[in-house]
Amino acid sequence: MSKKQQTAIIGGGAAGFFCAVNLKEMCPQMGVTIFESGTKVLRKVAVSGGGRCNCTNTFADVTDLSQVYPRGHRLLKRLFNVFDYREAYRWFEQHGVPLTVQDDHCVFPQAQDSHAIIDCFLRETRRHGVEIRTSHKVNSLEELSNFDYVVVTTGGITDGIPLFTTHHSLLTKPCPSLFTFRVADEALTALMGTVVEQAQVMLPGTKMRAAGPLLITHWGMSGPAILRLSSYAARLLAECRYQHPLSINWTGCGEAAVMDTLGELVVREGKKQLPNVRPFDLPGRLWEYLTAKSLQGRAHAPWGSLNTKELNRLVNVLVNDQYRIAGRAPFRDEFVTCGGVELSAVYPQTLESKERPHLYFAGEVLDIDGVTGGFNFQAAWTTAYVVAQSIVADVGNVP
Ligand SMILES: Cc1cc2nc3c(=O)[nH]c(=O)nc-3n(C[C@H](O)[C@H](O)[C@H](O)COP(=O)(O)OP(=O)(O)OC[C@H]3O[C@@H](n4cnc5c(N)ncnc54)[C@H](O)[C@@H]3O)c2cc1C
Repeated sequence: MSKKQQTAIIGGGAAGFFCAVNLKEMCPQMGVTIFESGTKVLRKVAVSGGGRCNCTNTFADVTDLSQVYPRGHRLLKRLFNVFDYREAYRWFEQHGVPLTVQDDHCVFPQAQDSHAIIDCFLRETRRHGVEIRTSHKVNSLEELSNFDYVVVTTGGITDGIPLFTTHHSLLTKPCPSLFTFRVADEALTALMGTVVEQAQVMLPGTKMRAAGPLLITHWGMSGPAILRLSSYAARLLAECRYQHPLSINWTGCGEAAVMDTLGELVVREGKKQLPNVRPFDLPGRLWEYLTAKSLQGRAHAPWGSLNTKELNRLVNVLVNDQYRIAGRAPFRDEFVTCGGVELSAVYPQTLESKERPHLYFAGEVLDIDGVTGGFNFQAAWTTAYVVAQSIVADVGNVP
């Protein structure tokens, strides 16, 4: 390398810092400057995971990346060959952040405090002499003409994105992902606090569906199944202004299996009243609500007195209960952006812009996003690492 190369990183968040530290580790003679528009860096890391930072996942339950990355799974599959969750896990432990794995496969710092990660990044950038300029919003690439390489890590919804690409058509319009559903049904919301462990939720007329625990809230529905569906359907729901039919299967079982179960109860528990025998371990208040909804005045009838029509109505409300999504709300302030720089605008091996040499993108600014569980940070670590490695490879090729 004839002269000292300089890299500017726009955005002092997770991806920006991870890229900076790795760039310096791979190429200590590289000058690296992080520009951050806010007064503080790593603000989202600080509040992430309820202040504990769910920094990655073991992926033990994931058989296909599309299950957890509605957008960007193909590119991530390729990039995981370079740097995946195992490497991320090792990286943090080797840099003084012991981690712990929860039963649900989510990974957190052992300290249960996101500052363990923030302190690590600040320590490493200081040690390597990375320059950090806060309260410095970059408004155009021309401001950075003294730099040899520029990495855009400006995060999710931001008015800054278009400044760093020349063709706006290469941007997919950003919209929020990971939100809860408003359902204007007072009888349902009166059940707030009720949790169903094995629900299936789907948008009728589409192939979009998700499964998992569902929580009824004071204004609609939340819980992992709903957050997943909001992520898969982020774009579709934005287009219809968060007004869409919603179908719930409260049992997690198919229609035939539900019919069989109810048929057995009719025979075995025929003398008992419906409220006294709850199938599928459904919470009592929910079961009462569903029987009243489907059988009205017969909600307290003995099991053995149900006729075929009534049994069909009960099966239908259990496997295909219809609601209407009437709006959205953030989940504990956590949201990610679906959309951003289209993946076709970057070279998949390097994440370098196809329009502008030496311009790279990493983190949420790319059109990659995941469901909750540490998957979004993992995408930030992977893409940032790949960019650092790509720049170093390019430096090696500079005569
Ligand atoms: C409340 C909350 C909790 C979350 N919890 C988790 C979790 O536990 N696990 C998980 O995996 N994901 C979580 N996420 C998502 C995760 O935080 C993001 O996916 C991740 O922070 C993306 O990192 P990033 O570096 O790409 O962007 P960001 O962290 O958003 O950083 C981008 C930075 O760029 C700066 N910037 C923007 N434009 C400019 C400009 N023009 N000039 C200079 N600077 C600029 C911004 O100020 C910002 O600091 C959470 C998100 C939220 C909102």
